[in-house]
Amino acid sequence: MTLLLKFTVPGCPVSKKRHQTATLKKCTRCQRQTLRRQCICGSYEFQFMTNIESTPRETVLYENLVAMAARDAMQKSSETGSLGGPTRAINAGEGCPNQSLQQPPLSLTLRFYFPIPESRKKKLVEGQPHSQRPDLDNCIKSVLDACNTIVYADDSLVSEITASKMWAVAGRAEIEIYAQTNEPRRI
Ligand SMILES: [Zn+2]
Repeated sequence: MTLLLKFTVPGCPVSKKRHQTATLKKCTRCQRQTLRRQCICGSYEFQFMTNIESTPRETVLYENLVAMAARDAMQKSSETGSLGGPTRAINAGEGCPNQSLQQPPLSLTLRFYFPIPESRKKKLVEGQPHSQRPDLDNCIKSVLDACNTIVYADDSLVSEITASKMWAVAGRAEIEIYAQTNEPRRI
């Protein structure tokens, strides 16, 4: 495996939250459109119009932060040439009729560190397993979605993920992206 990109996202990790759905309705009495349960005219009688989906703000902000850290790391490593050219992962397939064959399968190592609360500083130490909300799979999803189209062309390129969550003095997410060889694996 070749390390393509390594970066740290500062701050407490944020898990991917589900879309929120709001229903846009039309008041049957005054014809106003509203998202509220009661129309400002006082009526509760509505005609359904459409559902509006939105991603919770906290999720959007965290994904932007991860994307920014990823872009920054790619910029730095392409300037210094320190790593094997991280932009290779996304650019390798350009101009090739069969892109998927040109892009290497990726392996991700994700470590999520949650800040130890003041009240538990006597009981917890750096590196102890974190076993409460948020769920690990939703933390993984935040990072995968944030890196999509920035570090790699598509999530589907990721064929292996190693992830863990721990307590720490400073909250952060450490992300490593490796290119795998195309050799068959012994399982
Ligand atoms: Zn009304």
